[in-house]
Amino acid sequence: MRADHPKLKKLEPPKLTLADRFFLPQVAAGLLVTGRHIFGVAFQDKAITVQYPEVQHVPSPVYRGVHRLNKDEEGRPKCVACMLCATACPAHCIDIVGATAPETWPDREKYPESFVIDELRCIYCGMCEEACPVEAIELTGLYDLTGLSREEMIFDKTKLLSVFDATRDAEPMKYTTPPPGPSGQTQLLDSPIA
Ligand code: SF4
Ligand code: SF4
Repeated sequence: MRADHPKLKKLEPPKLTLADRFFLPQVAAGLLVTGRHIFGVAFQDKAITVQYPEVQHVPSPVYRGVHRLNKDEEGRPKCVACMLCATACPAHCIDIVGATAPETWPDREKYPESFVIDELRCIYCGMCEEACPVEAIELTGLYDLTGLSREEMIFDKTKLLSVFDATRDAEPMKYTTPPPGPSGQTQLLDSPIA
């Protein structure tokens, strides 16, 4: 479009006052927000911090934390190694090796011989849970996930099943009270990575 085109609109930059030039309205608005928080904590008991780990934070009912691999009534992993979760995962952090199911498991063709999630690469989007046709993988409300090495944060099948054992009674995505261990941390990492 030419610079002298009749439909061309020329916009003039808004005129700034002296206060605008020194960002005084924005600074005042920011101080107002800070003051409101200080007043709320000091006089209205609206503290938003907790003395963790003595006091456990209760996450939102839709918080997406550590994964769990669910078991069926017979204690077997529900997973049928269909790979849909790994395909849906945008972070490519699920690695599954499927194998032919034992003959004593007539209700499925395959099962996951190996099931690994890299909890450090995961972005906790929940796509794997959405994709799973048999509700075998779910995100729990567990948030106190720590490790001393990257390897510790790579969860294998045993660990993922142990998360299920620790959160067995929780509704998916509605987990509210993490069971604390001796140090206040949830005890999940009791099994070595295979
Ligand atoms: S929560 Fe998202 S990023 Fe994490 S494993 Fe599932 S699909 Fe992948
Ligand atoms: S967890 Fe669900 S989606 Fe993923 S491989 Fe197993 S059955 Fe398929």
